[in-house]
Amino acid sequence: MSLQTFRFLVLGAILRLLPVLSLLTGGFSSLRAAGPPPPPNLARLGSLPDWSLLDPYQATMTREEFVYLLRHCYARKPEEADPFLRIETDRVLLLKQSNHPEAGWYDLRFKTDSPLPAKAPHYWRGPLDLADLPPNSTRPLEGLRIAIDPGHIGGKWVTWDDRHFKLGGPDTLEVREGEMTLIVAKILRHDLTLLGAEVFLTRETNNPVTKERIETLQEEAKAYVIRRGQIPSAWLIASTAKAMFAISSEIRARGDLINETIRPDLALCLHFDASPWPGGRPVFRSPNHLHLIVNGCYSASEMAEDDTRLEMILRILQRLYYEELRLADTVSKTLQKETRLPNIGYDGTSGMSVNDNEYVWARNLLANRVFFCPVLFFEPFCMNHRETHARVQEGPYEGLREFNGIYRKNLYQEYADGVTAGLVRYYREQRQHTVSKK
Ligand SMILES: [Zn+2]
Repeated sequence: MSLQTFRFLVLGAILRLLPVLSLLTGGFSSLRAAGPPPPPNLARLGSLPDWSLLDPYQATMTREEFVYLLRHCYARKPEEADPFLRIETDRVLLLKQSNHPEAGWYDLRFKTDSPLPAKAPHYWRGPLDLADLPPNSTRPLEGLRIAIDPGHIGGKWVTWDDRHFKLGGPDTLEVREGEMTLIVAKILRHDLTLLGAEVFLTRETNNPVTKERIETLQEEAKAYVIRRGQIPSAWLIASTAKAMFAISSEIRARGDLINETIRPDLALCLHFDASPWPGGRPVFRSPNHLHLIVNGCYSASEMAEDDTRLEMILRILQRLYYEELRLADTVSKTLQKETRLPNIGYDGTSGMSVNDNEYVWARNLLANRVFFCPVLFFEPFCMNHRETHARVQEGPYEGLREFNGIYRKNLYQEYADGVTAGLVRYYREQRQHTVSKK
């Protein structure tokens, strides 16, 4: 028996004895009943988790596979998951409310009858679920539904978004990530459609998708700050409401669109990276870089959020890891070839490596957690690198222009071409493999 199992048995025995103890002491239960249970620990704008969402996944995954996915990709460190998950021989017990164990545990049984994976329900289809590809098809993405999420917002909304800056003289263009991602998204829609995919954008304009605004989120922001045990100063409420609007509410609204309406086979989250500028004034930084993100690397404090924990378990049970990693592995190579950018890594705190590809990292971000399909999250180009900045100034020109002695496509086309080449390569390989198997 492991120490962990032993601790759990002891805890179970104490819990079973509690009613007896309270009878003996007479006043124990009334003392406990004096305070209501604490409000649950939820992510920003998260909703109460419905643990019955796991019912269809009963006995669909073996213990071995569950433990592998949890420890290899999802928990940042195996021990960080221990307070919230109890792995038994034939089941895993999932704590329902992290700050109130009395709310109980969800009992998820492992698949024990055969080591072969059982089908787990999800709306997205992997390449092997799609129709076979005819040999030499010019439409390798035929039948595939792709959602493109142009990260951030633009126009007058950039004020709230913090992903914009101006560097250089008065005549230079402001760099606005939310407008740049929309340009790439529209090129991708055009090109991926020609290759047979059905493509959907989460936004067509610079405007936010969410109906919420900073003004409508004041009370939520205050409640959230208090729930976190922080002092609800005017400054903290204002900055929380701002992040709730531009990040949480906006991404959750796009998540609803993706999960309820688009229901794609794949989501592409488009972003541009930036290097930090200490001191608050934007400065040029080197080197320029590229990386792709798959979902994973949950910290203890993230897993302590009840809704986040349920979302992580759902991603494990849907086996999203394999599809995301295979896609990221292939697409990172074509994007690197197209952009010629070096990789950038994480130190294992907010992101970690899950294979030997230095361009692919696991990170728990809101979008790649709540979009319930394989998500490829792109972070190419450092926006405050001199060369990227110079290319932004040139806009989406036709043909080639010279930068540092090399003739380049415009920044947006280069980004889109690197992504498109990877998707074509991946789906061609996977879908022709289906044909050759027969
Ligand atoms: Zn971004």
